[in-house]
Amino acid sequence: MSDNEKEWHDSDKIVQVFGAFVEGKPEYPVICPECGEKDAHIYLNRNVDSSLGGAWAWCGKCHSYGHYSYIAPKWWGNLAEVDQKKLCGANPEEPARHEATIDNYVNEQLMRYCMSENVCRYCLHKNYKNPQIGKCLKCGKETMMATLDGPCMILSCSNCGFEIVGASFFPPCHNDDLDYTFSVKDVDKVKKVKLAKLFNINVMDLIKALREDGHAQKAVKLFEAEELYAQLKDLEVEFEITPDFTEKYPDLIGCKAF
Ligand SMILES: [Zn+2]
Ligand SMILES: [Zn+2]
Ligand SMILES: [Zn+2]
Ligand SMILES: [Zn+2]
Repeated sequence: MSDNEKEWHDSDKIVQVFGAFVEGKPEYPVICPECGEKDAHIYLNRNVDSSLGGAWAWCGKCHSYGHYSYIAPKWWGNLAEVDQKKLCGANPEEPARHEATIDNYVNEQLMRYCMSENVCRYCLHKNYKNPQIGKCLKCGKETMMATLDGPCMILSCSNCGFEIVGASFFPPCHNDDLDYTFSVKDVDKVKKVKLAKLFNINVMDLIKALREDGHAQKAVKLFEAEELYAQLKDLEVEFEITPDFTEKYPDLIGCKAF
């Protein structure tokens, strides 16, 4: 009997597969507690009409699974590819059909919303600064070269000529759409004009904000934050960033990986 023909069966242990999700670790697929293979997945679904929803955990190898009612965290969004109407409690067939997409999606969401420290450690691009050599998918010789070119993964074999290109290998920073807020509490008189310019406000509003709110603020997306960070450092102004993207992406500044 092949793996695909194995029947889905209820498992008490498979619930452990949610562990990485709860701890905010973007490491799916994870090890299956039943068979030990790194082929265990999860999916959450929020109902259209309520905050309630369901959760599935399953193993693609031994076909253990579990279904639970679950209130998905606020930041969770259902994956468009998964057909809500086909989801059912009796098996994980619909999410399992999309498991590679689901793993990436779950990992991306965890990096975006749950991690505040060192997301760069999960960046594939750092490992591919030099091409990686591995086993060819076709001829089996250790002559397969893997390179990342932007979001494209190129696998090519120097022995048999086999070549394959995969897309969407984005670094985690690329998927970040959160707001990062810069706050300045105090600034020398002579720097006020420049600071106002960087914050896209006029000097009067800057002065007013400093006096009345105790700080001037600007919220930006990640790549603009990287730029503003450098500009404020240049200006020698003290500032705070919430959340602190330099902790979340410690290698971002000056990163040439992508
Ligand atoms: Zn298993
Ligand atoms: Zn589907
Ligand atoms: Zn080959
Ligand atoms: Zn990076």
